[in-house]
Amino acid sequence: MARFRVRVSFPERCKGCGLCVHFCPRKILSVGVRRNRQGYRVVEVTESEKCTGCGVCYLMCPDVVLEVV
Ligand code: SF4
Ligand code: SF4
Repeated sequence: MARFRVRVSFPERCKGCGLCVHFCPRKILSVGVRRNRQGYRVVEVTESEKCTGCGVCYLMCPDVVLEVV
């Protein structure tokens, strides 16, 4: 079992800006097709088990959408 996991804990805040996608060193995030109530496409985790827990996505997100646990 993976030691770290990234969660899209607050999808309603996501603006689909792609910053977290761009900076994730493992390239396991992507902007998905699902839209939130604001009409923005919400980020998705593709291979959560590859997360190293580096926290870069958490630090980059201006809207504090993601949590690393
Ligand atoms: S914690 Fe690091 S490896 Fe995990 S999703 Fe975020 S940026 Fe990627
Ligand atoms: S989670 Fe944050 S950084 Fe990533 S696309 Fe959504 S708003 Fe942008």
